[in-house]
Amino acid sequence: MNIPFATVKYMHEEIEAELSSAFNDVLKTNWFIRGQFCELFEKEFADYCGVRYSIGVDNGLNAIKIILNALGIGEGDEVIIPGNTFIATAFAVSDTRAKVILAEPEKSTFNLSVDNLESLLSPNTKAIVPVHLYGQCADMDAINSFAEKHGLYVVEDAAQAHGATYNGKKAGSIGIAGAFSFYPGKNIGALGDGGAVTTNDKRLEQKIRLLSNYGSETKNHHEHIGTNSRLDEIQAAFLSVKLQHLDNWITERNRVAQLYINKIDNPNITLPVVKKDRSHVWHIFAIRCDMRDKLKSYLNECGIETSIHYPVPINKQQAYASYCFPDMPISENISYTELSLPLYYGMTESQISYIIDCLNAFDAT
Ligand SMILES: *Cc1c(COP(=O)(O)O)cnc(C)c1O
Repeated sequence: MNIPFATVKYMHEEIEAELSSAFNDVLKTNWFIRGQFCELFEKEFADYCGVRYSIGVDNGLNAIKIILNALGIGEGDEVIIPGNTFIATAFAVSDTRAKVILAEPEKSTFNLSVDNLESLLSPNTKAIVPVHLYGQCADMDAINSFAEKHGLYVVEDAAQAHGATYNGKKAGSIGIAGAFSFYPGKNIGALGDGGAVTTNDKRLEQKIRLLSNYGSETKNHHEHIGTNSRLDEIQAAFLSVKLQHLDNWITERNRVAQLYINKIDNPNITLPVVKKDRSHVWHIFAIRCDMRDKLKSYLNECGIETSIHYPVPINKQQAYASYCFPDMPISENISYTELSLPLYYGMTESQISYIIDCLNAFDAT
């Protein structure tokens, strides 16, 4: 049996007619950037996330960067992010010229631990960017109260967590602003690049809208040094179609994840932990195994494709060689032991059972 790590094929097959008619609708308007489809999707996505505003942008990295820019973060400032995240979180900070400060996660949830933040503070610390890694929210109450105590902004990197909840609140509605990616492989993806910012703060919304559109409200008048980071009409139209199906796709991801959790039983494998006050959307199903590389090649021989998120922690990335980051034993340990199992909409029962059986038969010796 050959099982891919992920595919969007079955999602797209089900909504092919809807996507085609969305394409035709946009074509007929002859208007391709920030028009009626972007406006509609922004409204729908804001409602979905339970916030007042959402602003469509061109990708997730720029969503984070523009939030930081709009908050006035730049040269001389410091921003705390987790040591185990996708590189975009770090690059968004570096793009503003602020300094990246890495914090260790807690091993069980893979998310930022508030206990590790205090020692990283300096008079220049301006913000924390918790990442809701793999689709489960970080401990936002603890992070928000720590931030409040120290006068810091909390910007959520929700690129993997569309629809995830924390104490009933949606990802992207818990910090001052949330950054989303609609990269095709995310739980809701465009048919190309896309992103969004969510916030309840009116002034921040206005500033982000300006900055992402050449710092301009009136054509040819530029109040700020802005950038070009906008969501295409065509992608917004596709995203409006897909947003209608997202909860259904999340339910299916959750069903597969629960089967893995209930049926994978191997002392060499540590399963992911979901905290009681949170709902996980399973962008990635991450297990840990001390013999990870051996397990990965064993599964590969079984015809099961897996992935690693992420094999190189931020402190070991070549791009940051000049930064002299300290050792990050927890982030590094996760990078050696994490393995991501196949999980996508459209997996068959026999594929799921086969993966579980192969994992249970894995012999680490
Ligand atoms: C995907 C992702 C991003 C960046 O999104 P892009 O749309 O690819 O720029 C940022 N942070 C995390 C955690 C991600 O997974």
